[in-house]
Amino acid sequence: MTIDAYTALYGVFGNPVRHSKGPLIHNACFQHYHKNAVYLAFETDNIKSAVDAMKTVDIKGASITIPHKSSILDHIDSVDQGAQAIGAVNTIVNNNGRLMGYNTDWKAAILPLTPLGIKGKKVCIIGAGGAAQAVTYGIKNEKGSFTILNRTSETGQLLASKFGGQFVSLQDDEAIAGLDIDILINTTPVGMYPKTDATPFPLKYLRSDMIVMDIIYNPLQTTLLTQAKNMGCKTINGLSMFLYQAAAQFKLWTDINPDITIMKEALTNEH
Ligand code: NAP
Repeated sequence: MTIDAYTALYGVFGNPVRHSKGPLIHNACFQHYHKNAVYLAFETDNIKSAVDAMKTVDIKGASITIPHKSSILDHIDSVDQGAQAIGAVNTIVNNNGRLMGYNTDWKAAILPLTPLGIKGKKVCIIGAGGAAQAVTYGIKNEKGSFTILNRTSETGQLLASKFGGQFVSLQDDEAIAGLDIDILINTTPVGMYPKTDATPFPLKYLRSDMIVMDIIYNPLQTTLLTQAKNMGCKTINGLSMFLYQAAAQFKLWTDINPDITIMKEALTNEH
């Protein structure tokens, strides 16, 4: 695709963003669907200026990542229901100068779980940060019951009470032993590269009838997932959430439902 005076600009705002796979997968889709558009990474600490720039130079859409997912709420013109409830925006659409905020993480997180059934299931969510907020909202939306397991009680309790679940401290071994878990979801960075030996959940409490999901995608096969698989658990890695949240962004920007395999191939062919 030739870049010319009509090329539409998209990008990701965050810090750090140099590791982001967003440019790779979104540009692959723009090319595949013959869109005269380009997606770049903008490393910035100043989200207010980034928002102003979007309006000034007519950046058509953006991904929002750490640390701006919550603070951007103060600077945009409207926010959809999910993003409002979660308190975080990961996608901006520039609609003729009006910036609309969305959150595509929560639907992407529950998508691989939906065929397995969430309604009435007992879900244990490890972590209480930004990703946990989206995952918890998704589980609540599908009528699963949930327990938040977190290192810091204050944030864990806050998230549990926000969406009507229970809280258990990661330090409370007895309470963890007593948990009845159908689906276990890790939303913490524990087990992520480079500390890949770490696990966020005491492995002795894994049971073979649990579904175990880890939203970490670097590496795809975390120690938690490896151990769970060895025990006979059904496991889900973080790639599907990553790809589906990006696909939903692409749909919001272009009205095209992209073929996920284009994004997957772009990641595979990177090296
Ligand atoms: P965040 O807002 O910083 O939250 C991190 C959470 O992990 C907090 O609850 C924190 O507990 C907990 N945590 C951090 N280090 C810990 C440790 N050593 N032991 C126990 N708990 C620890 O981060 P986030 O935005 O939610 O992202 C979390 C992870 O999800 C990252 O690895 C990110 O790459 C991944 N992610 C994946 C996708 C995807 O599409 N697959 C999307 C979003 C995020 P405290 O409350 O005690 O600090």
